[in-house]
Amino acid sequence: MLARLLQRYGRSPVVFERDTHVDERPQGGSLDLHSQTGQYAMRQAGLEIAFAAASRPEDQGDRLYDADGTLLFDRDDPTDDRPEIDRTALRNILLEALLPGTVRWGCRVAGIIPSADGFVLVGEGWTEQFDVVVGADGAWSQVRPLLSDAKPAYEGVTLVELGFDVARHPAINRLTGSGKMFAVGDNRALITQRNGLGHIRGYAGVRLAEATAKEWRASSPEQLQQVLQDAFAGWAPMLREVVETGDVIGVRPLYALPIGHQWKSRVGLTLLGDAAHLMSPFSGEGVNLALADAVDLAGALTSDGGWTSVTRYERTMSRRAAKAAEGAAQGLNGAFSSEGVMPVLEHYRARIRRV
Ligand SMILES: Cc1cc2nc3c(=O)[nH]c(=O)nc-3n(C[C@H](O)[C@H](O)[C@H](O)COP(=O)(O)OP(=O)(O)OC[C@H]3O[C@@H](n4cnc5c(N)ncnc54)[C@H](O)[C@@H]3O)c2cc1C
Repeated sequence: MLARLLQRYGRSPVVFERDTHVDERPQGGSLDLHSQTGQYAMRQAGLEIAFAAASRPEDQGDRLYDADGTLLFDRDDPTDDRPEIDRTALRNILLEALLPGTVRWGCRVAGIIPSADGFVLVGEGWTEQFDVVVGADGAWSQVRPLLSDAKPAYEGVTLVELGFDVARHPAINRLTGSGKMFAVGDNRALITQRNGLGHIRGYAGVRLAEATAKEWRASSPEQLQQVLQDAFAGWAPMLREVVETGDVIGVRPLYALPIGHQWKSRVGLTLLGDAAHLMSPFSGEGVNLALADAVDLAGALTSDGGWTSVTRYERTMSRRAAKAAEGAAQGLNGAFSSEGVMPVLEHYRARIRRV
């Protein structure tokens, strides 16, 4: 998004991407873009028509079950303005909007060395000099350590990502309804989420020590399915089907940077997205914030205000992210508590009252 906007302003950005090609790895579940951040960015980038064509406003429903399989909340309101889009579709829209050759695939940045005129990026067998470097390189950013000592901390919860197909999993299809299904019990949760092209993405989440999460990452899909079946033993059979029939895609321990993470501004070097404000997905804001950051940073980098404008961007971004990060921490602690489903039900009800 930042590269697209800079090109619209007549600048010449280069994107270094460690993936060797666009389809190297699955990009993850469906996202809902919010009107004031994600959708706003798509409009600023002139990509709102492509977004409207690829997004799914019909998939915004929410269902909540307790561990016994009692349906406590079921909402499917077509007036909501948070259309879903598959990550791959969103990424393709952004990639196709760039001038050819903007993305250097298979170029992992391994080092950033300050120089007289800016910074030298160092990769395997290449170096290149830039006047401005933006760390848009996610949770384990290579750029962040040049600005801040902050490190992501484990949030105590791990999600196992699961894949389903509507055709092969009719019961999961019925359970998921028109958007997202959440089932919450004692310190654990199951989520299924409708994606495009007949796919459904699932997550089985548990509180887990970090060392155990690392062991899970090294386990086979069969071993993982067994530990998940043990973790969700006693849940309603229709919910247990999520862990019994899903294809294991990966293990995702959740990490977050300190809420309100900031750094002393340094000319020529800044951050956006998860590199600046990693948080758990329980506010549903991460991608939306990253897109909004890109709009603000593109404006700052192309204004007449010099680096002062970027410093202002850093403050605005940090404030906006802090609010979302508080929501994410509350959301995670509400979903994984010994009070079971009640905090989540209250959150859903409060959201309706606010609408
Ligand atoms: C399970 C889960 C569910 C989520 N659900 C949602 C949701 O519903 N809604 C939402 O808004 N957010 C959600 N998020 C959060 C969202 O995924 C992130 O906030 C978002 O992807 C951040 O975007 P980013 O561009 O900052 O970082 P990333 O998406 O991590 O992208 C960073 C890119 O940099 C590349 N890279 C990294 N290091 C290097 C390097 N050294 N050299 C070159 N390239 C490098 C990576 O390959 C990657 O392409 C979820 C997160 C998780 C884990």
